[in-house]
Amino acid sequence: MTVRTRVAPSPTGDPHVGTAYVALVNYCFAKQQGGDFLLRIEDTDQARSTPESERAILAALRWTGLSWDEGPDVGGPHGPYRQSERSAIYERYAAELLATGHAFRCFCTPQRLEEMRAAQRAAKIPQKYDGRCVAVPDAESAARAAAGEPFVVRMKVPAAGVCIVEDVARGPVPFEYATVDMQVLLKSDGLPTYHLANVVDDHLMEVTHVIRGEEWMSSAPKHLLLYSYFGWTPPVLMHLPLLRNPDKSKLSKRKNPTGILFYERMGYLPEALLNFLGLLLAAAPEGQEMFGLPALIERLDLAKISLGGPVFDIAKLDWLNGQYLRHLTPAELIDRTASWGFDRARIDRIAELAQSRVERLSDLVPTAAFLFAGRVAVTPEAFAGAKLAELDVRKALALAMWRLDTQAVFDKTTVEVVLKSVGETLGTKFRDLSRVYYVAMTGSPTSLPLFDSMELLGRDLCRERFRVALDVLGGMSAKEQKEWQRSTSPDESDGAAA
Ligand code: GLU
Repeated sequence: MTVRTRVAPSPTGDPHVGTAYVALVNYCFAKQQGGDFLLRIEDTDQARSTPESERAILAALRWTGLSWDEGPDVGGPHGPYRQSERSAIYERYAAELLATGHAFRCFCTPQRLEEMRAAQRAAKIPQKYDGRCVAVPDAESAARAAAGEPFVVRMKVPAAGVCIVEDVARGPVPFEYATVDMQVLLKSDGLPTYHLANVVDDHLMEVTHVIRGEEWMSSAPKHLLLYSYFGWTPPVLMHLPLLRNPDKSKLSKRKNPTGILFYERMGYLPEALLNFLGLLLAAAPEGQEMFGLPALIERLDLAKISLGGPVFDIAKLDWLNGQYLRHLTPAELIDRTASWGFDRARIDRIAELAQSRVERLSDLVPTAAFLFAGRVAVTPEAFAGAKLAELDVRKALALAMWRLDTQAVFDKTTVEVVLKSVGETLGTKFRDLSRVYYVAMTGSPTSLPLFDSMELLGRDLCRERFRVALDVLGGMSAKEQKEWQRSTSPDESDGAAA
């Protein structure tokens, strides 16, 4: 049997370091076993998936240096590798489950489901589908569907008993069926949910080992039921502990940058980032922390991956990256720096922006330095000249950060629209507001054109500079955060909570 593993990101946001971590384990394990590593795009959530996010995820994973044997960009014998192109397959399998009696049509309206949940909340019992439509006789169910009544397809779940999930790292983990929801498999628009698509694809793509984040552990009983309903052998399951902030809370972009592209833009070397993530998978003795992929492939032992939350400790990454930089020759250091931030198109554009603002050639580098720096030095005093109340300064930074996070595209036009929208929310002239943004982004109240500069910096560095500026000004209280999020649309508060 050929070992086949996969990473299956959903293109609903920025490429996350957690995805690189999961990809790394799957890649190394497959290579260690002489097997294949696949990349599948799980874009069943049509409202949140975007082509920009998919492109960014592929580019970011490529940047790390990992490569996949099959995927949407490289093809392969089990394609297509993008779930939105496989709807007909899922429909067929949902029909099979209906025919074998393992699934049923549910005609409950959103309103009925809301009433059901409200009653469950009031009775303080766990919220899950109460099974009303399981009782609809087959003939009636088929007739109502044929008459055009909207329905979803749900899976049946045994009323009693226990499902044992065998997890490589945890051993047997029991789940009472009574706590497992009758998951929707096919939505009323005929498209699948994650659960159906994930199981069908892992089977058809002959995935032998599913190694993924522990947030999917509670889905495992549903998946195992589906495998048994179809009569398929389930893959080996392993749920990895989530990456943590140094304070042990779940890694979140509110405390630590989480975007792979942030680390690229900051000038970390991809081999250092992979090595750093590798140390979270297979600890190395002191003095032997530097190792490349071949060594990790050799030493990885799935059963020995520690379940205690691995800490994403940027200080350690800084140290390791420094080691890598010092191992380069000076010529290599220059080459790497040039290809990182000095490609011709980028510096030409910077020259265009800076030309009208320099008196001497010697002014150019200091004028543009903030575009090459990771972080810029910001002090509370630098914001003092703004004609805004201190509270509005902080609010302006938070709103801009959240609103920019929810934009599919990050270019100067979007940046301009978003920053001006914050002015409208605050009832402030943009002229007064712009100083705040100049200081946060460039470290100075006057600099190169703001919107162009932010586009050149990119979403991840901008987010980090907003975060640091907010921190410098004392951050925001939980109450402020709640109130400010309320003054943004629901989409925006999602961005903040992610
Ligand atoms: N699409 C899921 C994610 O975004 C994949 C979960 C899995 O690996 O089964 O992480």
